[in-house]
Amino acid sequence: MAIKQKRYFLPENELPTQWYNIQADMVNKPGTMLDPVTREPVTVESLSRLLSVESSRQELNMTDRWIDIPEPVQEMYKYYRSTPLVRAYGLEKTLGTPAHIYFKNESVSPVGSHKLNSAIPQAYYCKMEGVTNVTTETGAGQWGTALAYASKVFGLESAVYQVKVSYEQKPYRRSVMQVFGSQVTPSPSMSTRAGKDILTQFPNHQGSLGTAISEAVELALTTPNCKYTLGSVMSHVSLHQTIIGLEAEKQMEMAGEYPDIVIGCFGGGSNFSGISFPFMRHNILSGKKTRFIAAEPQSCPKLTRGKFCYDFGDETGYTPLMPMFSLGHNFKPANIHAGGLRYHGAGVIVSQLLKDGLMEAADVAQIDTFKAGIEFAKAEGIVPAPESCHAIAVAIAEANRCKETGEEKVILFNLTGHGLMDMAAYDKYLSGDLNNFTISDEDIEKNTTGLE
Ligand SMILES: *Cc1c(COP(=O)(O)O)cnc(C)c1O
Repeated sequence: MAIKQKRYFLPENELPTQWYNIQADMVNKPGTMLDPVTREPVTVESLSRLLSVESSRQELNMTDRWIDIPEPVQEMYKYYRSTPLVRAYGLEKTLGTPAHIYFKNESVSPVGSHKLNSAIPQAYYCKMEGVTNVTTETGAGQWGTALAYASKVFGLESAVYQVKVSYEQKPYRRSVMQVFGSQVTPSPSMSTRAGKDILTQFPNHQGSLGTAISEAVELALTTPNCKYTLGSVMSHVSLHQTIIGLEAEKQMEMAGEYPDIVIGCFGGGSNFSGISFPFMRHNILSGKKTRFIAAEPQSCPKLTRGKFCYDFGDETGYTPLMPMFSLGHNFKPANIHAGGLRYHGAGVIVSQLLKDGLMEAADVAQIDTFKAGIEFAKAEGIVPAPESCHAIAVAIAEANRCKETGEEKVILFNLTGHGLMDMAAYDKYLSGDLNNFTISDEDIEKNTTGLE
């Protein structure tokens, strides 16, 4: 087919100036988060012991549909936004599908992923509130890199706990964080009580996001003028990521199309929320029938097989208790290469939306994700992040379904990052050294016993 237009961009003066807060439009609001110590509902005051006040306010804001993006944040967004909306003509041709496939290319951000969209406002709010130091955890290193850069921009010191298995698998991500001036520690470490406790019990612990969060939270709570920031799961992070879907909405309009299916890979839910919520608002408010599919790893299936219950966001139990789909905060995910998806729970908003049938979830085996990623790379010339490969695999499956039925559906997925730092994983796939991992019903049952 002749290429009409391959990529769509927004002029700088048409970039969104507000984020979309879906909590205002949800009929069933997300369940109440509870303070981990008192078990009372969290408040802006209790949350802001850990987070910036503004992030805490956004977290609990159930009424304002639109939230202004501060000017300095808008300015930083201009360093890489708008990101292109791309029509995947190459992939359509490879698949021989009548579907129209589009992807939003978040891999063009300075740090190579969508994570910067939330790192910038979180660092900015900390700076405005007189904070000098920030801490965080990182899995594959994408969030740590984004926070390291955003901290540099706004003149904050940053300390990052990186999940040990990723620290070893992806040494160059650590280097990038250090280039931006961040202090990086493999987790679990002996530098916190939480880390020591875990290492005493499990000396060979490979680390998990849950453990690294415990360490970063502990450091924030015990360091003066220090706040904790996070790259996923919480509602204010999803809010910041709606810049993706708001741009995509305008760009799809430029292309003269509207998506029938929107797909995002799923770690804690931030990029899925970001690309989906602006379109979902039309399902909620004006009866559109777009399908939204979260693509998660088969080895970490919180949405497809987890339990809806109150659980902690971290292994030690420092974070608020959140009503969410979870595999249990002690769940130790397999060492898959999509480090950003190795997390036991889902954010409270997406959990409620899934419960209410406003979205769907699909799980994908590791080998299938790399197969899809390579098919995409050959067709479009971009090597995708292992996390993004999950969304690509689901997009390809939907496009193949269209081939069977002859339907010309419009499919939009989010390309969260490039995989140029993940070539060790691609090497393993290419040499046939990659495994699939599954988890038994008994293990899920065991890990979630006692959680209600
Ligand atoms: C962190 C990350 C993800 C998963 O996080 P979400 O909050 O679920 O979006 C996906 N892709 C990339 C490239 C990431 O860095």
